[in-house]
Amino acid sequence: MDARSRVVATPLRRLIFTLVLFGLTCRLAEESGRCATYRTRNFVVQAESAAAARKIAEHAETCRSAIAIAWLEKELPPWKTPCPVRVKLTQGDAGGATSFGFGAKGVNDQEMTLEGRLDRILASALPHEITHTIFAEHLGKPMPRWADEGASLLSEDLLELKRHDKIVQDLLTRRGDYTLSKLFQVEEYPRDLMGFYGQGYSVSRFLVEIGGRPRFLAFIRDGMNKNWDESTRVHYGFSGVKELDRGWRAWHDVVVADPNHSKLQTSPLVVRFSPRRGDRIDDSQSDQDRSADEESTRVAARSDD
Ligand SMILES: [Zn+2]
Repeated sequence: MDARSRVVATPLRRLIFTLVLFGLTCRLAEESGRCATYRTRNFVVQAESAAAARKIAEHAETCRSAIAIAWLEKELPPWKTPCPVRVKLTQGDAGGATSFGFGAKGVNDQEMTLEGRLDRILASALPHEITHTIFAEHLGKPMPRWADEGASLLSEDLLELKRHDKIVQDLLTRRGDYTLSKLFQVEEYPRDLMGFYGQGYSVSRFLVEIGGRPRFLAFIRDGMNKNWDESTRVHYGFSGVKELDRGWRAWHDVVVADPNHSKLQTSPLVVRFSPRRGDRIDDSQSDQDRSADEESTRVAARSDD
């Protein structure tokens, strides 16, 4: 049974607008010979510059290999069909979206879009989106949102991780968080998208720090297919989700209270990208200038069964 696509409500209009605009831009550019395509084994990247298309395609392969090994302890076999990646280079921070069509045997088709400054795409948005593709391939159906987004954030660079540490701290201070029992059941992106990403990131990071990445995926698979309490007991030894909730909050308090601990533990990156001269298109934008609006583009357009 083919799945139908769905995207989060809030950024839907913006995402559609971006995709339509990009498609139009690229078609016009293609007609004038300014839209480049670069193919690797698993990706076909379309961008406005040949150098950027090549750089993104090659880094996508590196990410695919390293992220699969980190989470699955093995590489994925090549995809039958390369994943199309459409890139829109701008001077803003990076975001992306990946849509999947799921069938009875797993992923039927997938498509990725990336937008932003090249160095930020390479360091942050691309590894994030590639992580979604690894999870989709491994699980064969949509992953719970909190885990999909939260664990994909672990592939981003330190700038993004620190930003999300702050987001989750603010979330807990204003008591906007979910209990984990509720978080595990959330099927649609909620209105407070940044808080949701922040909590998903923090809970995923906690679970990865105490048990590693493969155990996290085993926990997710059993939780989504069977029962979250049982999966929590089997994989982490907590009596159930309520005790896991208390454990996560206690861990968070320690991480936040002890900056050295936070610094030590904030190293979950699996793919590091070192910008070189030429990757940075615009240096002039400060972190504060990058508005929270960027978050709205970092959504995975996913699928229902
Ligand atoms: Zn995402």
